[in-house]
Amino acid sequence: MNHKPPLLSSGGFFFLMKKLTFWVNTNTMRADAVKTAHREIVRGENMKKANFTAGPAVLPRPVEEKLRRATHDFAGTGLPVWSISHRHPVVEKFCSDATALVCELLKVPKGYSVMFVPGGATTQFKGWLLNIVGRKALKIGYVDSGHWAGEAIKAARELTEANFCTVHMLATSKEDMYRSLPADMFAHDSEVVCIHYTSNETVNGTQIKLDAIPDGREVIRAADMTSDIMSRPVPVEKFGLIYAGVQKNLGVPGLALVIVRDDLLDAPHPALPAPLSYAEQKKANGGLRNTPDILAIASVHYILEWIKEAGGVAEMEKRSRERAALLYDAIDHSDVFACISAPADRSLMNVIFRVRNEHQHEKFMHACEESDIVGINGHAGANKYYGPHLRASLYNGQTMENVQRLLEVMHKFERRF
Ligand code: PMP
Repeated sequence: MNHKPPLLSSGGFFFLMKKLTFWVNTNTMRADAVKTAHREIVRGENMKKANFTAGPAVLPRPVEEKLRRATHDFAGTGLPVWSISHRHPVVEKFCSDATALVCELLKVPKGYSVMFVPGGATTQFKGWLLNIVGRKALKIGYVDSGHWAGEAIKAARELTEANFCTVHMLATSKEDMYRSLPADMFAHDSEVVCIHYTSNETVNGTQIKLDAIPDGREVIRAADMTSDIMSRPVPVEKFGLIYAGVQKNLGVPGLALVIVRDDLLDAPHPALPAPLSYAEQKKANGGLRNTPDILAIASVHYILEWIKEAGGVAEMEKRSRERAALLYDAIDHSDVFACISAPADRSLMNVIFRVRNEHQHEKFMHACEESDIVGINGHAGANKYYGPHLRASLYNGQTMENVQRLLEVMHKFERRF
């Protein structure tokens, strides 16, 4: 019989099988890794970092889920949120529902309008003056409570140079390096027509108690509430105007929320671009004067729903008090860490502290990094006052679990040094 020689020797056969098995295994592993990574990205399962950033801030997990869904199917339209017309009825409904939810949650009285204006809070530093003060060349009082009040004052002074208004400094805490709020910050002379406050100083860690703001309409009170809006009840009736960039307690960046008394809308400056005009946005469904940041509007809507379901702004305040108390208490009882802001004026949103021994700052930052704690560094603009320092931001989306994780790292660090 003529035996054909085997195509492969048995050694060759085993070699080939080994190669094949290796190839199959490697590719299965690769496919599994891709699937896992995809699942992690889609569900956010790899987000094990405890994020204390001052903003854009961490969002509540259910809000993130809704936003993830909106990237491929926004509100059942089958369209991604970034490819849908702002004239689509769903977008119109989201915008008007969001303004209605603001009214409900903050108990906004009749005679006020709520709207979204593009460009965050910095745009409003001049925007509010151009909208409210219009062409009247008025004397505006400012409370200089810290970094962001300073930015608002700088912007107003640029308008002063254009003979638009005069800026009058009512009170400052600069001599205390803005660790406290200015004394006598509610006094003003009779010529002052508007007063501007910054309700929470994100960089310096102080927060105004809103009960302390006087009642009465002898003066128009305006407030930048960027870093504490929706974190506590607000006596809206005390203010002519409230504005807030939405990217901390209220959504993803791109917009400012504006709450304004209707009688202040009659003299906008003609130089105002239409999307920045409160009167124009009021007429346009509260934010649809031109193509807005629809993703930001959607995020605000989702967060407001989440706040409502959680029990409203009183519940947000309760939670922030609990988170902040835990952290302040640990710092106050520490020999290694020290709080920067004055106890009476401490913010519930931004806890500003430092490692007592400046030379150990970097070591603590490293310890945080190793434990996946991020966004904890202080604002570079305040180093000139406090040296290298730390800031833990505790906005609505922050969790107690993350605060506990930070405390563990702090305690471990204390034991080492
Ligand atoms: N005001 C305050 C109190 C802030 O915290 C910030 C941002 N951190 C701003 C204004 C500026 O906001 P935006 O980046 O939206 O212009």
